[in-house]
Amino acid sequence: MSVHSASRQSPKSAARVIVNARGAARLRSGHCWVYRSDVVSAGGAAAGALVTVADAAGNTLGAALYSSSSQIAVRMLGSQPIAEEDYPALLDQRLAGAVALRQRLVRDSNAYRVVFSEADFLPGLIVDRYHDVLSLQMLTQAMDLPPRRQAILDALVKQFAPAGIVERMDERVRELENLPARAAEVVWGAKAETVFTMNGVRFQYDGLSGQKTGAFLDQRENYAATARYAKGDALDVFCYQGGFALHLAGVCAHVAGIDSSRAALEAAERNATLNGRELEWIEANAFDLLKDYAAAGRQFDTVVLDPPPFAKTKRAVAAALRGYKELNLRALKMLRRDGLLVTCSCSFHVREADFLEMLAAAALDAHKPLQVVERRTQAVDHPVLLTVPETQYLKCVLAIVR
Ligand code: SAH
Repeated sequence: MSVHSASRQSPKSAARVIVNARGAARLRSGHCWVYRSDVVSAGGAAAGALVTVADAAGNTLGAALYSSSSQIAVRMLGSQPIAEEDYPALLDQRLAGAVALRQRLVRDSNAYRVVFSEADFLPGLIVDRYHDVLSLQMLTQAMDLPPRRQAILDALVKQFAPAGIVERMDERVRELENLPARAAEVVWGAKAETVFTMNGVRFQYDGLSGQKTGAFLDQRENYAATARYAKGDALDVFCYQGGFALHLAGVCAHVAGIDSSRAALEAAERNATLNGRELEWIEANAFDLLKDYAAAGRQFDTVVLDPPPFAKTKRAVAAALRGYKELNLRALKMLRRDGLLVTCSCSFHVREADFLEMLAAAALDAHKPLQVVERRTQAVDHPVLLTVPETQYLKCVLAIVR
């Protein structure tokens, strides 16, 4: 999507949102958001409306979806105004484009992200495929409007003929968008549970359970990369339902997974059974347990660290980096020579350079020279739109202790 000024008149039906110089510059740089503080006038736009965006001089900047409550007031759809009656066809076309891209990109899996919101030019929409069940999230007022929801459902049914479509809710996001809280529900067909396969490993999916079951789709290729180099005695820290651990089980002598959530470990055990594997699951606070292990001189050949996001805002980055360092230092102390460290961060605000600097400091403190063998990010079905930095969030570094 390129955003540049266009002189065409906006369609009569669309409200005209005027943005200030900073908002206009952001759009001209290829980003697709305008913050509320950069909106000069919303032109009476309704919640979720399709609008035309212009700068203060009257130059039209393109078409966008408007939110009346989020700090992200405007999410661009393109550089030309769009008439309301043309919008369903545009949705259809973009959805088809996203699906075709996945057909080209995804290998060895019947589970992947079909639509990644802004990165697929469909701001506010996330669709994940788990074999024959689709999981859908409408994250903005615009996507949540009933006629639009129906258009998306119809397009997905046409593309995939799924056994079921589950709509999942992100409570925090719905609150920001001033949308009513709702429970997850089956919105098409009847099926919400299934079994899917990635890299030859099987996982259960249950779209209706409070804690989503399955695996993290964005780590799919990192699981496979980890299995290429892992060996010996392995520890999967923050294992959730066993994504890394089950991949390690095929190549390591012994695998233990640590997580503080019992429900996650119970799902992990069901996944192990599904694959005919025996693993050890440990319910514990990872920080405390790693401290005990390090004090007791426990040694491993492979350690995976995949913690939850430590920095949800820019302000939290310094504290997050201290947390990452502590964790990585402990893991490094426990790794034997030639051992593999797989260390991840899913916080967008922690940039890769800062993460590597943190890792270098931890390696120095641990007196363990580290050879980085792969610097990875999210799987290809979560594409990165270069002009929208927020679309790149996952860091995954594979390194060998020498
Ligand atoms: N590696 C997993 C995803 C990890 S998500 C996969 O590939 O599927 C982060 C996990 O960290 C969650 O399962 C959460 O329960 C767990 N967690 C959060 N804080 C924790 C803590 N202090 N100690 C142990 N586990 C924790």
